[in-house]
Amino acid sequence: MDIDIRNLSKSYYLHGKEIPVLRNLSLYIAKNELISLTGPSGVGKSTFLHVLGTLDTPSSGTITYDDCQVHALNDAKIAAFRNKHIGYVFQFHHLLSELSALENVMMPLLMRRQSRNLAQDKAKEMLAFVGLSHRVLHKPGELSGGEQQRVALARALAHGPTVLLADEPTGNLDEKTGQEIVDLIFSYNESFGTTVVLVTHNQRISNSFKKRLTLTKD
Ligand code: ADP
Ligand code: MG
Repeated sequence: MDIDIRNLSKSYYLHGKEIPVLRNLSLYIAKNELISLTGPSGVGKSTFLHVLGTLDTPSSGTITYDDCQVHALNDAKIAAFRNKHIGYVFQFHHLLSELSALENVMMPLLMRRQSRNLAQDKAKEMLAFVGLSHRVLHKPGELSGGEQQRVALARALAHGPTVLLADEPTGNLDEKTGQEIVDLIFSYNESFGTTVVLVTHNQRISNSFKKRLTLTKD
């Protein structure tokens, strides 16, 4: 889907005080596009991803996915939209520690009411894609940091999202391991056309994106 962001503003309100974060941001993201997002800490990168991914609402302005002005939908429809179209990866993997890699990747599929068999096949396929076929029964604590993040990536992509939102997915990894995660994301984009917006503080990683967006404090 193409994403048309028009005059997007977002403020938080805390103790009756307005905290303006995003101001009048307009941006067109074409289907299949890969975008890096950089900017100083606290500038609003995570806020932008949250609003883009419908985890939060704009204060004003619109985000239109193809013909769908998504925040105008009711809550149930927004949730359904998010479930179908959005995948998230964060700096910390947020895997469930008691579950194996396989079960962690199956979880969002089971939550979307897929059968156990289908969920398991898909999860195995995704773990193979991220190079972890030999680690499917390991729990997060039995995996390296890079492997944990690969599982988180497999989990985020298992339902075939239209858009992958990655909030500093390499922030906790060394340069080489981080680059491997980014390479996997590029390779997935090439095969399946998933749109990607990736927040990073790493200049080299940012430079590997054709389209780069920087948020600045004014
Ligand atoms: P970044 O990801 O670029 O570091 P964030 O989007 O997390 O920045 O935060 C942007 C600004 O909004 C920060 O000043 C932060 O303190 C503030 N902020 C973030 N979330 C909330 C919230 N839920 N309530 C109030 N202020 C918030
Ligand atoms: Mg952030």
